[in-house]
Amino acid sequence: SKKKAITISDMRAESRRAYLQKRTKRELELLERELQDEEEIIAKLGGSSKMTAEEQRELQLKRDILRMAREHGHVDTDEAEAAKKPDGFYRLPEDYDEVDESGKKKSRAQKGEELLTSRYVEPKQEKSEQQLWEEGQTQKAAGLSKHKKKKRSGDEEDDDNKYDFVFEEEQIDFVCVDTNKGYDNRKKRQSKKDEESVKAIEEGGDALEMRPATKHEKILEGRKKLPVYPYRDDFLMALKDHQVLVLVGETGSGKTTQIPQYLHEVGYSELGKIGCTQPRRVAAMSVATRVAEEMNVRVGHEVGYSIRFENCTSKKTVIQYMTDGMLLREFLTEPDLKSYSALIIDEAHERTLHTDILFGLVKDVARFRNDLKLIISSATLDAEKFSKYFDDASIFMIPGRMYPVDIYYTIAPEADYVDASIVTVLQIHISQPLDGDILVFLTGQEEIETANEILAHRTKVLGSKIAELVLCPIYANLPSEQQAKIFEKTPKGARKVVLATNIAETSLTIDGIKYVIDTGFNKETSFNAKTGMESLMVMPISQAAANQRAGRAGRTQPGKCFRLFTAYSFQNELDPNTTPEILRTNMCNVVLMLKSLGIDNLLAFDFMDAPPPETLIRALEQLYALGALNDRGELTKIGRRMAEFPLDPMLSKLRTELDRSPHNVILMVCSPLSPGKTVIVSEKYQCVSEVLSTVSMLSIGTSVFYRPKEKKVHADTARLNFARGGGGDHISLLRCYREWAETDFSPQWCFENFVQVRNMRKARDVREQLEGLCERVEVDHTMSDPDNIEAILKAITAGFFYNTARLGKSGDYETVKQRRAVYIHPSSVLAKEEPLPAWVVYFELAFTSKEFMRQVAPIEPQWLVEIAPHFYQESD
Ligand code: ADP
Ligand code: MG
Repeated sequence: SKKKAITISDMRAESRRAYLQKRTKRELELLERELQDEEEIIAKLGGSSKMTAEEQRELQLKRDILRMAREHGHVDTDEAEAAKKPDGFYRLPEDYDEVDESGKKKSRAQKGEELLTSRYVEPKQEKSEQQLWEEGQTQKAAGLSKHKKKKRSGDEEDDDNKYDFVFEEEQIDFVCVDTNKGYDNRKKRQSKKDEESVKAIEEGGDALEMRPATKHEKILEGRKKLPVYPYRDDFLMALKDHQVLVLVGETGSGKTTQIPQYLHEVGYSELGKIGCTQPRRVAAMSVATRVAEEMNVRVGHEVGYSIRFENCTSKKTVIQYMTDGMLLREFLTEPDLKSYSALIIDEAHERTLHTDILFGLVKDVARFRNDLKLIISSATLDAEKFSKYFDDASIFMIPGRMYPVDIYYTIAPEADYVDASIVTVLQIHISQPLDGDILVFLTGQEEIETANEILAHRTKVLGSKIAELVLCPIYANLPSEQQAKIFEKTPKGARKVVLATNIAETSLTIDGIKYVIDTGFNKETSFNAKTGMESLMVMPISQAAANQRAGRAGRTQPGKCFRLFTAYSFQNELDPNTTPEILRTNMCNVVLMLKSLGIDNLLAFDFMDAPPPETLIRALEQLYALGALNDRGELTKIGRRMAEFPLDPMLSKLRTELDRSPHNVILMVCSPLSPGKTVIVSEKYQCVSEVLSTVSMLSIGTSVFYRPKEKKVHADTARLNFARGGGGDHISLLRCYREWAETDFSPQWCFENFVQVRNMRKARDVREQLEGLCERVEVDHTMSDPDNIEAILKAITAGFFYNTARLGKSGDYETVKQRRAVYIHPSSVLAKEEPLPAWVVYFELAFTSKEFMRQVAPIEPQWLVEIAPHFYQESD
């Protein structure tokens, strides 16, 4: 029989069709019923012209799906899988390709933008686009795409199982421009035994053992194979002689997991705890878990970790991993860090804001605590800067070996890097031997989930025609059970694909990676000192970061790195080095923290790279306006209490929120201190309990309610119920929390009210934490006045008075001070309010097609003068 060729475009068309057919009978019935209802309503309304563009699209899609199901016969697969979906509703296929006016495929950024705004912005009445879209969709849904017609003569795939994989138009063309040479700087005087053990890792084999080793023995054996192991004694000797050491070693050499254990083994832990900071929560948790396993103890006992909102340590803990932010907070309660005998500031090369501040603080502590050992650990070879900063500290290098990595660039720029990364994964998988796993760098949870879903689906469609792909996503919010999966050994005959954020650049080492796909992007904060607003957005990475990423492919064998950008762009558009976070961030909580540590002259603080003075001044102004500093720049009582609050839960909320959002959305909040201020002030207004609930709900933000496609009306009704009685989004969230609490946190209640139970539980956790903090700062959190909406909104306004807007004559809002035009987000309960409130306070701004205020509440203008007299005068 003749062999047929299958192309990537066939694969895509195929997966779309299968996606549609995959619906279960139950889903189709449900869909049919929904559609009937909808058509009736439309008939009553006399046509669909009143629907938004998106609603019309959806309607069309539902019709298409049902027609397809009738025409092709319904394939009843995966009942079980579908039943697993929490709500049992079907979802719109996300990998639908849309076309723009000129018939070109839309970029994912465009699609994301539209998805977010089309529902909300008045639909443009451009029939042609709509028609084009519908035509495109119908054609695709019916499986009549051009490629398919051209390439395949037969109708059904099943009549021939032998396929060649041929990449055509949609393949991505790469050129190999250069090779990162790799190096081998291991000491020559290494003993033979060490050479052998190194060889053993290189061959990936277990040590030669006569009897099968236990799991723990294997782990111990593994420890000895790490590059740092031969230098254990040298390192400990060096540390004896030097108080401060800069430790440099490639990612994966064992710095994070081994050094604290070495210190423990030789008795440093008898003098105090051994602390090790990590810039990322996931890394702190994952590494602590690993080290506990290596030491054969339970995590939380001898080895523990502390991250925001989760303290997994005990009295027994001798090795403590923590986020750099947590150590920073410890300075507030223990300025000399006397419970520690040694500190490792790990991943120093990342230069996060917190790490940079820690540098200044630990340097100072080390001066008067001669017994404190300090290790600054970095994965990059340019450690001179650290050494110089720490008064010419000695550098200890862990010699390592890096295999050469071939670097491939795309010939032309890729419009959609997520899509490109998916195609590249398949290209590699199909064309390269099954001897190495793939690591893909994406920017956040949303992208990772999208890529994961599409890949899972495409490989499923291809079934046994290709070798198995084991998909492993990893990002900050991933539950820890699933995090462990990335470290599991790849099964024989399969290939692992790790879809990761920047966390896999240096914080986590995954063995067996031979192929790296680098999208060239990362999420970064940036701060605009003029507006005082901080945002987190997708930015191109630096050349140094790209080289780090490439290095992940050459750890144990020669590898390949596929960059989804051009060689020209690497040379000309990427910065040589990543800018330290301190130079691009809002400093206000750091300034507050430094002030509360008694550091008054900020300009004299020993920064490794001092932030621009405007940023510091802006932060001082914000703190003054918030009432945290007086007019002499001294900390006030309220400021002292605010410093005790973990003010960045909102910031970390912001981070995870953005981690999830499509990459073209920019979110901004004015001050990370606002929520803390709100809680503290609520005492004065005697509504602490209500404010805690409201703030906790705000912290999970836009992910409280869900809106299943077929039950939009029900969901919206449920949601508007919470708005009854006024007070806008804040009070609606409060009512929602309160009702849930009254049902004793019932999941059923959540289900009935279209509320996401998992996120509600998160809010409850945050609330509990905040209660604990209230106790610490002596704010009476039992104080409650449930029906005094005005008091609650005043407390909110006291924290968020920067975020206020007034209704202008034109009928649009503008922010009070800066007069930017802003709009109520259509998801707000106030969006359809008539008349609109004249003054509002909002939680955050989201930039899509316009600047939308999200979570909006009505306020009275005179409150502003009463609450923030430094900021507002009567004349405003
Ligand atoms: P470094 O800090 O120098 O980058 P690490 O100490 O993090 O190196 O890692 C050393 C080795 O430990 C890595 O090669 C990795 O394979 C292994 N490792 C680290 N974390 C885990 C884990 N959670 N599960 C299994 N192996 C791990
Ligand atoms: Mg490390």
